Amino acid sequence: MTFRTGRHFLQIPGPTNVPDRVLRAMSAPTLDHRGPEFADLARRVLEALKPVFGTSGPVVVYPSSGTGAWEAALVNTLSPGDRVLCFETGHFASLWRDMAQSLGLEVEFVPGDWRHGASPEAAAQRLDADIAHRIKAVCVVHNETSTGVTSRIPEIRAALDAAGHPALLLVDTVSSLGSIEYRHDDWGVDVTVTGSQKGLMLPPGLGFNAVSDKALAASSAARLPRSYWDWTPIIDANEAGFFPYTPATNLLYGLDEALNMLAEEGLEQVWARHARHAAATRAAVRGWGLEVLCADEREHSGSLTAVLLADGQDADAVRKIVLERFDMSLGTGLGRLAGKVFRIGHLGHFNDLTLAGTLAGVQMGLELAGLPVRPDGLTAALDHLRTN
Ligand code: PLP
Repeated sequence: MTFRTGRHFLQIPGPTNVPDRVLRAMSAPTLDHRGPEFADLARRVLEALKPVFGTSGPVVVYPSSGTGAWEAALVNTLSPGDRVLCFETGHFASLWRDMAQSLGLEVEFVPGDWRHGASPEAAAQRLDADIAHRIKAVCVVHNETSTGVTSRIPEIRAALDAAGHPALLLVDTVSSLGSIEYRHDDWGVDVTVTGSQKGLMLPPGLGFNAVSDKALAASSAARLPRSYWDWTPIIDANEAGFFPYTPATNLLYGLDEALNMLAEEGLEQVWARHARHAAATRAAVRGWGLEVLCADEREHSGSLTAVLLADGQDADAVRKIVLERFDMSLGTGLGRLAGKVFRIGHLGHFNDLTLAGTLAGVQMGLELAGLPVRPDGLTAALDHLRTN
C-alpha cells in the first residue's frame, strides 16, 4: 500500500466524511445503557431528531443499516399478500421491491428508465384504477442514490389525496435526510426510512423510522411476522429513555453531536448549501461536455450527481485513476449503470473547497483517462461558487 499524505477524499454518496466533532463525541467511554446518564442522552437525541425529519411524532432508532429500516417500515405496517405500489427509479428502489416480494407482499412495480423520479401521473393512474383499495402502501425512494434523481414526494401525496386513496405513504430518505428539503408531517408521509451514514454525518450503523399516527394505527392490525423490528416495545421503552435491547451507545453519542451541528447550521441553510453545491457540480459536468444522468430539471439531487459517459467509455477506469492518483473515492455505477456512470457525492460534512478539490480530482482523472473532455468544468463550478 502506498503511503498517503493528507486526508482521503471520501466523495462517494455515503458513507460520508464524519466530522471531527462527531468522531470525538463517539470516542467517549461507553455508558451503562440502563443508567440515568444514558436516559438523558436518549431522550435528548430522540427529541432532537424530530425537526430533522419534520415531524412531531416518534422516530424509532435501530442499530441497523438502512436496509433494516426498510424492513421495519414494511413489517410494521403490512400483512401477507398486501399489495404495494413501487416505482423503478433505480437500484435502491429495485432492492426495496425485492425485499417487499421476499416478505410475501404483492408488488405493483411501475417501470422507469433510471433517469426520472417516481411519476406522480403514473401514481395517480394506478391509484385511481384501484377502486377496491387493494394497494395498502405506496413506497417511494426520495433520493435515488444510484442515479442522483429525486422524486417529488408532495406530488405523490397529492395523487393519493386526489384519488381519495387510503394507502400508506412510505418514503426512503437514506440519501436525502439532512441534505435535501424533506418534511414528514407537512408532506403527509406515514413512514420515513433513513440511515446514519449520509446526511446525518455518522458512520454506518443506525437505521431510522419516523412514524405517523396512521402508520402506528396500521401496525396494530399488520400481520407480517416481526419481533426485533416491532415499533411498539421500542417506542414504549423510549419514553423512559431506554431501548428494549442494548443500543449502539457510541453511535448515539455521535448522533447527539451531529444533530447539534445540523441545528447550529440550521436545516434550511443545510438544504441550501447542498442545492448550491449540486448546481456547481452540474455546471462542472456541462463544462466538461459530459451529461448529468438526471433527465428532469425538477428532480436534480442535492446530495449527489451521477455523470453519464458515452458508449465505449469506462466510468470505472476513471474512478480507478482518481483513487490511485489523487486518493479520492467516487461512487461506482450500480446495477444496470455499472461502468456507464460515476457518482460524485457532495453531501454531509462538506464545503466550497471540498467541492473544488473534488471536482479538480475528477477533471484530472477524466483527462488522465484520455476522455475527450473540455477543460472548462472546474472553472465553471468555481464561477458558480463565486457568484452564488
Ligand atoms: N436506500 C437508499 C436510497 C440507499 O442509498 C441505500 C444505501 O446506500 C439504502 C437504501 C440501503 O441502506 P444500507 O446500505 O445502509 O442498508
